[in-house]
Amino acid sequence: MIDNHNRVVNYLRISVTDRCNFRCVYCMPPNGVHWLDHSEVLTYEEILRLIAVFSREGISKIRLTGGEPLVRSGLTNFIHEIKAMGVIDDISLTTNGSLLPQMAYNLKNAGLDRVNISLDTVNPARFLRITTCGRLDDTLRGIESALDAGLTPLKINVVLTESLLEADLAYFIQQVYRHPISVRFIEYMPIGGTGVGSGPDIGTIKKMLSMAVGRQALRPVINVQGNGPAKYYQFPKARGTFGFITPISDHFCGECNRLRLTADGKLRPCLLSNKEIDVKTPLRNGASDSELARLFHEAVSEKPNGHSLCRSSGYPDFKRRMSQIGG
Ligand code: SAM
Ligand code: SF4
Repeated sequence: MIDNHNRVVNYLRISVTDRCNFRCVYCMPPNGVHWLDHSEVLTYEEILRLIAVFSREGISKIRLTGGEPLVRSGLTNFIHEIKAMGVIDDISLTTNGSLLPQMAYNLKNAGLDRVNISLDTVNPARFLRITTCGRLDDTLRGIESALDAGLTPLKINVVLTESLLEADLAYFIQQVYRHPISVRFIEYMPIGGTGVGSGPDIGTIKKMLSMAVGRQALRPVINVQGNGPAKYYQFPKARGTFGFITPISDHFCGECNRLRLTADGKLRPCLLSNKEIDVKTPLRNGASDSELARLFHEAVSEKPNGHSLCRSSGYPDFKRRMSQIGG
C-alpha cells in the first residue's frame, strides 16, 4: 500500500486500551484523563476482524500499545489469536514494563516477537516523580524478564526530561555493553502532559555518552531490525546500540510507514494531527470487508507529507493525550 507521498504503509499501531497503571507527567495531565467506557473500546474480536481486512491491504507489522497494553485482560490470548491468523510477520508491544515479570514468558509463548520498554531514569525517586505511581524496581525486573523470555531485539525508550542524569547514562551504557539491546532517546512532544523541564538535547546526550566511555566516538550503524524512525549509533565492542528519535528537531515524516488505531476505533493517519477516520461505527453497523478496506485506504490517503510541529504556525490544539492515541 503506497500513500500519496510514495511511502509504503505496512505497519499498524493498535491501542488496546486508554487505561494505564502509571500517570507519566508528559503523557497525562495531573488530574488524569476521562477513561473510555468499556462499551466504547473495540473488542478483541473487532480488532481481529480489522487486522484480517487490513492485512489484505498491506499491513504486515503490528505494535500493540495503549495506555498500558498489559493492563487489558485477555491480552496474551489475543496475541495468540493474531499469530494464529498467519498474516502478520512481526508482533511487538510497547509497555512500561511493570507487569512483564509475571507475563513475559506467556506473551512470548503466545507469539509476541519483541517489546519496547519505557524507562526514563534509574533513580527511584525521580522515576516516581515522572510516573506518579510507578515503582522503578518493577520496570527493571520487567526488562530482565523480557530478555530472559527472548522478547528481543529489546528496545528501551527514554523520553528526554530534566530528570535524565549521568547516572542514568551510566546504566544505559552498561546495558548496551552487556546485551544486544537498543536504548533510544526520544524528544518530548508537547501532546497534552504537563511540562517535563527541558532535558538535554540530542547533541549533548551524544557528548555525555562519549565522555562516559573514555571519549570514544559513537559510530553510525545501519540495519537495526525493526529500526523505525530512530538513527542508530554504537560504541566499538558494545553489543547494543543507542538510537535517537527526533520528531521535533529533525522530523522523519518522509519515512513514516504507519497508521494508528485508537482503542475506541479511530484510524489516525498521523500521530501529530487530529484527523481521524471512524471505523468502529461502520464495523458495528455491519460494514462489509470491502467497506472497511475503503476506510483503510481513506486513512492512508490522508497521511500528510509532514506533521504540524514542523510548521511555523505553532502547535495545534491536540484533542487527545498521548495515552489516548497510543504512542
Ligand atoms: N504505556 C506504554 C509505555 O509507556 O511504554 C505504552 C504507551 S506510551 C503512550 C508509548 C510511548 O510514548 C512511551 O515510550 C512514552 O514514553 C512515550 N510518550 C508518552 N508521552 C510522550 C510525549 N509527550 N513525548 C514523547 N514521548 C511520549
Ligand atoms: Fe502510561 Fe505509558 Fe503514558 Fe506512562 S507513557 S502514563 S506508562 S501510557
